[in-house]
Amino acid sequence: MTLRKVILRALSETWEFAFGGFVWYAALAGIVWLCFYALFRRRAQARKINPRPPGRGQVPFEIRQSLLSLLAFGLTSGATVFIRWGGLRTRLYQPIDRHGWEWFAASIVLCIVIHDAYFYWTHRLMHHPRLFRRVHRTHHLSGNPTPWAAYSFSIPEAFVQAGIGPLLVYTVPMHYSAFLFFMTWQIAFNVFGHSGYEIFPRWFLGTWAGKFLNTPTHHALHHEKVVANFGLYFNVWDRLCGTNHPDYEGRFAAVTTRPSRQPAPAETAWPVPATVSAVKSD
Ligand SMILES: [Zn+2]
Ligand SMILES: [Zn+2]
Repeated sequence: MTLRKVILRALSETWEFAFGGFVWYAALAGIVWLCFYALFRRRAQARKINPRPPGRGQVPFEIRQSLLSLLAFGLTSGATVFIRWGGLRTRLYQPIDRHGWEWFAASIVLCIVIHDAYFYWTHRLMHHPRLFRRVHRTHHLSGNPTPWAAYSFSIPEAFVQAGIGPLLVYTVPMHYSAFLFFMTWQIAFNVFGHSGYEIFPRWFLGTWAGKFLNTPTHHALHHEKVVANFGLYFNVWDRLCGTNHPDYEGRFAAVTTRPSRQPAPAETAWPVPATVSAVKSD
């Protein structure tokens, strides 16, 4: 293949991946926004983790940053065209029969487990005072996140987050549909994690699933307090490393036991959260 063809192929790959990601992001964040912040806002108010609505200007900022992140994800995917040209192929495969249905399911679980570890450790690294301001602060400007904050990253952080894609497709043999399933899982979990509403029942943290799986309250508390709750899907790394916030279970109980009818506070300005300003760079 000529260089010109490779560049055109890479641009087309960039566009396809970015546009596909945009459709999923817009559809899922849009549905959650429509339900929680418009149609059933009054009924859902009791489950709002931070009772305040997002600050003025916050949602347009989150959407703008998410669109830039999607472009970074697309460019990362486009880069694999050059890598393939250089002779290194991904381990994506078809048809399913090549490794069977058992591996199809196992590969999805493996990707989720690898992504959970990748997210926890890169996230903790980005909280290092030397990196926080330059890389991760943008995401924390959403102290009271909305579903649109799911991909609200700075450009450097967007490339860090995009890194999971190449890590998986070059190491784990995966059917194309299994990769698509994993991508759908990650965006859905991300949108609910940033929804600002607790969706699990009040008894959930008392079950084995509640000890294992993170809830929207867990991630909302990360945005609010900044210094704890770094995990993504599972409450495993935070438990092992002692980084769960001590208020987690109490806050979850408070949110899930509020009386159903709650007044909604008025919209206010959108300040930089004090917890974010408190992070000093070295
Ligand atoms: Zn977040
Ligand atoms: Zn963070």
